[in-house]
Amino acid sequence: MFEKQNLVPSAEEFVAECPLPKELAAVKAERDALARDVIAGRSNQLLVVVGPCSAHESAPVLEYVRRLGKLNERVKEKLVLIPRIYTNKPRTKGVGYKGMFSQPDPEHGEDIVKGIRTIRKLLLDAISESGLSAADEMLYPENYAYVQDLLTYVAVGARSSENQMHRLVSSGIDLPVGIKNPMSGSIPVLINSIYAAQSPQVFKYQNYQVRTSGNPYAHAVLRGRVDNYGNDIPNYHYETVMQVLDGYSRAEGGLLHPAVIIDANHSNSGKRFKQQIRIVEEVLQNRQYDADFKRIVKGFMIESFLVEGCQKHDEVFGKSITDPCLGWEDTERLILDIAEKA
Ligand code: PEP
Ligand code: MN
Repeated sequence: MFEKQNLVPSAEEFVAECPLPKELAAVKAERDALARDVIAGRSNQLLVVVGPCSAHESAPVLEYVRRLGKLNERVKEKLVLIPRIYTNKPRTKGVGYKGMFSQPDPEHGEDIVKGIRTIRKLLLDAISESGLSAADEMLYPENYAYVQDLLTYVAVGARSSENQMHRLVSSGIDLPVGIKNPMSGSIPVLINSIYAAQSPQVFKYQNYQVRTSGNPYAHAVLRGRVDNYGNDIPNYHYETVMQVLDGYSRAEGGLLHPAVIIDANHSNSGKRFKQQIRIVEEVLQNRQYDADFKRIVKGFMIESFLVEGCQKHDEVFGKSITDPCLGWEDTERLILDIAEKA
């Protein structure tokens, strides 16, 4: 049984209501080009996708991106910083808080129309106040249209990387799309996803038959895996990264721009969020020892917010209500360190 609760207006209507001003569109276009250049190897900068696991409230996220914008001034020669403003959360058991898209107020019920309005305003304010355009997870591919003019980086989550629609829509996005390894950790599945996203595709999308050009900026994100007994097993080490490189070079017909982003949290840290510092440092160290490793590892994903850790309910300003995050001071130190060693 489906009960029709509310009519959700089209993406065009939301965009007309809250359009991206020309001067901010120019900022975003510049950020897009910087991010593409890292993935394509046209620049030697590192991409750092950093921010809370979920953006559950606008005010602390804006405070966070303002700080990131200031920090960017100190590291912009070496790093391309992209704030995580994640507004759709996949849930392991399918229940619980599903992000700002569904619940603009995490302590109240679902209101998707209000959620979309809140998200557009937040992404727009973030660009205007920090000069940085954001990353989000494309959890529901049909909803990408609501934010496609505002994002610089799109993630396909571990629970979605085998899904046909995620792969097809990724093939039409003109931005870096980071595809996570599936929960099982299968590298062939990950490579097949990148292959599908880099290939031109024809399918039904938004009431049209569409043809995509294929996305040369689709790439791998290693987030660790979960074994058959539910244990987190890291996959940021040299050996796994080399398996991904091997998968890239063996893909039939070839793949473009071999690239890996290391997600330092999730099953790599076992959600022991402070370990993100050690993991990033270890990867930076490996980059010094091996030229192939250095060439393919093009950045990091780090979960970080104003206050470290996490909380069950939205009580502490700037503390995650989903995965535990690094606090601001640790984050600032870590980003400065990445810039020094990049
Ligand atoms: C995330 O990035 O917060 C996330 C949900 O990641 P994953 O898909 O790797 O679990
Ligand atoms: Mn997370």
